[in-house]
This record gives sequence, C-alpha cells and structure tokens, in this order.
Amino acid sequence: MFNFLFLLVIVFFIIVYYFVLPAKIGQKRKEISNNSFPKEWVLFLTENVYLYKKLPSQLKKQLHSYIQIFLAEKEFIGKDGIKITEEMKLIVASQACLLLIENNPNPVEPKRSNYFPYLKYIYIYPDRIAHKNKPYQEEYNILLGQSSVGYKSGKDGSILFSWADVLREANNPQYGDNVVLHEFTHQLDQEFGNATGTPRLSNLEKTLVWQKIFRTEYDNLCDAVSKGKETIIDSYGTQNPIEFFAVATEAFFLKSRLLAVYHPLLYEQLSQYYHLDPVIW
Ligand SMILES: [Zn+2]
Repeated sequence: MFNFLFLLVIVFFIIVYYFVLPAKIGQKRKEISNNSFPKEWVLFLTENVYLYKKLPSQLKKQLHSYIQIFLAEKEFIGKDGIKITEEMKLIVASQACLLLIENNPNPVEPKRSNYFPYLKYIYIYPDRIAHKNKPYQEEYNILLGQSSVGYKSGKDGSILFSWADVLREANNPQYGDNVVLHEFTHQLDQEFGNATGTPRLSNLEKTLVWQKIFRTEYDNLCDAVSKGKETIIDSYGTQNPIEFFAVATEAFFLKSRLLAVYHPLLYEQLSQYYHLDPVIW
C-alpha cells in the first residue's frame, strides 16, 4: 500500500513537472506575446539599436513577441548605484532575442533555446566590472560582461554587463563588438552542460561538421593573430573555442558580408544554427 502511494506521488509530480507546468508557461507566454508592442518602444529601438533598425519587418514582428516574454521572465538588477530603466531593458532584450528569432520557424528542428531557460538575473553595472572568479584569486579581472547558468541551483543563472559598453556598442556597429550578443551566445552554449564552443545540434552529423569547421577556423584565427594580421573575427576568440563561438556570433551579425565572403563555411554554419541570413538585411 505504502509503495503504491509513493508511486502515485511520484507520477503526480512527473505529470505536474513535465506537462502541467510547461503548458501553463506556454499559455502565459502566448498571452504576453499577443499584447501589442508599444509604438514608443519601436521608436526607441529604431533610434538606439542598430541591429533592430536594419532587421527586416517580418522578423521585427517576431522579435517583438520574444522581447515581451523576455522582459516578463528576466529580472534586471542595477549594481553600484545604477538605476534600471525601461530603455536599458529594451536595449538588452532586443539584442539577446535576436539569437532566438528565425527566418522560417521549423518545427522539425529543435528550438535553439527556450528563452534562455537557466538565466534569471541580469546585473547591470555602470562601467567595467572588477571581478574575481575565485575568492582566493589575488588580482581582479576587468569584465565587460559575464554569463553563468543556474541549472545546478535552480533557474537562477545570471549575466553581468557593463552598461557603458552595452550602450556604446548597441548603436555603433563599426566597432564590430557586441557584449550582449557575446554573453547570450555563452548562454546558448551553456544550456545543455558546460560550454564547449559547440551548442546542441539536431544530430551527430551536424555536430561533427560544426566541430570540424569551427576547429579549422579557430586554428586559422590563432595563426593569423600570432602573425599580427588583421582579422574579421575578434582576436579575443583565440582564448579558447568557447570564446571563438561568441565572437564569431558577433561577426555573424555585425560583419555579415565580410564573414560570408572570407569565412563562407563558418557563416553557413552560423546561418543554419540561427536560422537567419543577416547578409541580406
Ligand atoms: Zn566570453
């Protein structure tokens, strides 16, 4: 009898966790995405976020839904005296959600991310962040941003941002850097375990092709940087394959044409992964 009751309780929790909760979340998201996107938000984003401005209109419509859900689910926290504003949230959310939208939503392919499920908090600092990775570390690292996922301790992962850098990069594509795209790429990479530079793809063949192309491109970048050559992809990508994936994503969105011409295989991989073709935007 006791065993039967115990089994019943387990089955109940499985049903709630895997069916009832996702259905409720899905319903809530549907309601939120049906809300109209405020006109003043469109105006603000058009004036302040370069990638939003150049996005084709059918993708903008999709992005609006993602932004609204993102804003409803993520919590922004100001650090070192900074006060969080709606504009700050919009600048972060609009660029983060670029990684989620897609040209032709394809139900056969798994979604890349379910709204960054292990991310809860976004901490905004006024400027660059002095941070120790380990408490016993003597020197501070100076960061523009940092991403961590919270799957070990609940859905409480976080991203830190230097607001000065987020703001400067949002509307100045000529720098070729974008810390928002960078840190959210790490979120995608971290979603199914430790980041490796290879996100979860739909089958082994695709994973092996990705790894081969990314490895070659990573080695080529390391070689070019060691010889002091100019590169399209940020030299920070030589740190390791994880950083390479993040800076390659920045180049994919910000230097699309150059990447497509000089790194066609890498562009194709990223285009397949993001289901986007920014070279034609
Ligand atoms: Zn990074």
